[in-house]
Amino acid sequence: MSRPFDLDPLFRALVALPGVGPRNAKLIEKLVGGPKILDLLFHAPVDFVDRRFKGNISEVPNGRVVTLEVVVGKHFPNARKNLPYRVSCSDDSGTLSLVFFHAKKDWIVKQLPEGQRVIVSGRVDYFQGKPQMVHPDALGKPEDRASIERVEPIYPLTQGITNKLLNKCIAAAEKMIPDLPEWLEENYHARQKWPAWKEALTNFHHPESEKDLDPLSPARARLAYDELLANQLTLLIVRDHQRLIEGRSLNISKVLREKILAALPFQLTVAQQRSLSEIDEDMSKPARMLRLLQGDVGSGKTIVACLAMLNAVESGKQAALMTPTEILARQHADTLAPLLREAGVRAVTLTGRDKGKTRETMLQQIRNGAAQIIIGTHAIFQKDVQYDDLGLAVIDEQHRFGVQQRLELSSKNKGIDLLVMTATPIPRTLAMTAYGDLDVSKLDEKPPGRKPVETLLLPSEKMDTLIDRLKKKTSEGSRAYWVCPLVEESELVDLAAAEERFDILKQTFGERTGLIHGRMKPPEKDAVMEKFIAGHLDILVATTVIEVGVNVPEATVMVIEHAERFGLAQLHQLRGRVGRGGDQSYCFLLYSGPLGETAKARLSTLRETEDGFVIAEKDLQLRGAGDLLGLRQSGMAEFRLADLSVHGELLAAARDDAKLILSRDPRLATERGRALRTLLYLFERDQAIAYFQSG
Ligand code: ADP
Ligand code: MG
Repeated sequence: MSRPFDLDPLFRALVALPGVGPRNAKLIEKLVGGPKILDLLFHAPVDFVDRRFKGNISEVPNGRVVTLEVVVGKHFPNARKNLPYRVSCSDDSGTLSLVFFHAKKDWIVKQLPEGQRVIVSGRVDYFQGKPQMVHPDALGKPEDRASIERVEPIYPLTQGITNKLLNKCIAAAEKMIPDLPEWLEENYHARQKWPAWKEALTNFHHPESEKDLDPLSPARARLAYDELLANQLTLLIVRDHQRLIEGRSLNISKVLREKILAALPFQLTVAQQRSLSEIDEDMSKPARMLRLLQGDVGSGKTIVACLAMLNAVESGKQAALMTPTEILARQHADTLAPLLREAGVRAVTLTGRDKGKTRETMLQQIRNGAAQIIIGTHAIFQKDVQYDDLGLAVIDEQHRFGVQQRLELSSKNKGIDLLVMTATPIPRTLAMTAYGDLDVSKLDEKPPGRKPVETLLLPSEKMDTLIDRLKKKTSEGSRAYWVCPLVEESELVDLAAAEERFDILKQTFGERTGLIHGRMKPPEKDAVMEKFIAGHLDILVATTVIEVGVNVPEATVMVIEHAERFGLAQLHQLRGRVGRGGDQSYCFLLYSGPLGETAKARLSTLRETEDGFVIAEKDLQLRGAGDLLGLRQSGMAEFRLADLSVHGELLAAARDDAKLILSRDPRLATERGRALRTLLYLFERDQAIAYFQSG
């Protein structure tokens, strides 16, 4: 079965809409996040203007948007350029001035011939006791009344796309919405009092009251539920399918593990032991392991990953550890090297930078099995990298990769065990949607002896005082990170800010100041990082490249400039770079006021708690829909209609629903099953459906 014909109109390109040319199509595509008519239909109005107020001129309240039928009277062209052009209009009850600034005279004369009956719509304000309408939103003939006198949805816009144009496009797109078979379970549907899909999508574009804009309104809730159901069904289908692929049961003797545990300067925490035994159990079972290891910054995921990899090595297989950055790959390699040497295990580190002969040699070692553990960036899963016998893939700091990439990875390496590690705890709902195909182990305990990081809020005007304090701290041997503000979508601007700060700090800290940023070549980055690790630098000025994973236990101060611009999870992640050794650590959050409510709540949450799981939930709560873009960029939000900060309960229901569906109708072959396939196509989960064909 391929995509039902019913859906075809929704999957046509935006240019298929009347009045939309290639140029506008491009702009709209950028605005709505996709090239299809369906993407446009999923673009949510954020407000509306009610133009339904009628009555006559004398009845209009101040500040109200109205639609009136009036007779055009005298024109009063502007005497000077910066004065307005006025047109007097009237009905039986009184007169109304239409006011135009910088308007073209010809246009006004043509639109508003004296003596003509016209419909005007716009906001009426009283000026010196007389009603006037500045720049009417709409002008028309009496017969246009019905099309003007309506509730007009207001959409988020972009340069070059007006609300009027978007309304026109969406009205045209609405005509293409097909009736689709109902995929909701009958009783649940009835209980929720939700409209059918077509009606829901139509209502979505015609809010008539504040209630209709509420994410829990019947139309919006239904659409969100559909999206969540498609997500949960996909994850469960993928999961069932993955489990069907034969895994291999490993024989874990734990001999290597004992060697390493004996060499470690610490004991594993209870949480680490628990997670490891869950991993051991998975790996020794014949089914594949598909497991998520969730742990806060500094909770010790690396050693857990290392011991899991030794399970594979012990059984004569290879293990791979994939990191999101080269810095992190090198760092893991350096940390693990002495331990692996202790166990007599051979590891190689492969990154995109390795070229020519070195690379050839490494590839050969991976191919013939001489390399038992392979650490690196995504380079380790490129086409030309062939493994002798890969048993386990560990993906570190997964949130930089999407679900899709994970699926590709595991379909390329059939039967291997998979362990995914998140950089920070993520909210329960997000875990369910992004990792719903995985089992979860949690490191909810930190290694003993960590002192809480002291977190201080500081207005940026106090920077000089802070620098003095830092001077004292560094003279006593402390090392500090100094993170520069995040400016959305512009690495260049980030860079300029960081370079400027670097120059300023250099005046105080001289040659012991370093700078690291995303535009540097990897060897340059490494060199700076190594100097910081070795203690040749006191201050490391950085853009957010240091966000993920870096471990320098001697660093005890973290300064974050413009902390109000960072998300909560990101701040937590940054703060987690300090407090890793035995010494008291500090985190200074510099902010530029005045702070908005959300920013205030974010910063004070951070000051109150260091529990990553608590912070993750709070973060989700505080993210309004406005933050969705950030989520999307990080690969975390794949949702157009659902908002996890409000649709958590719907998600739980969708999860249960999906489970029940697949237990009763695993191949989606019943009537409802077929309707559900349409749902999956609607949300482009074609891959899940492909599994039914492949068996
Ligand atoms: P993360 O979970 O952020 O990846 P790491 O694996 O980098 O954390 O561990 C942070 C630090 O804690 C490392 O220096 C590591 O050696 C240390 N560590 C890990 N487990 C323990 C433990 N059980 N007891 C003491 N220190 C530990
Ligand atoms: Mg880590």
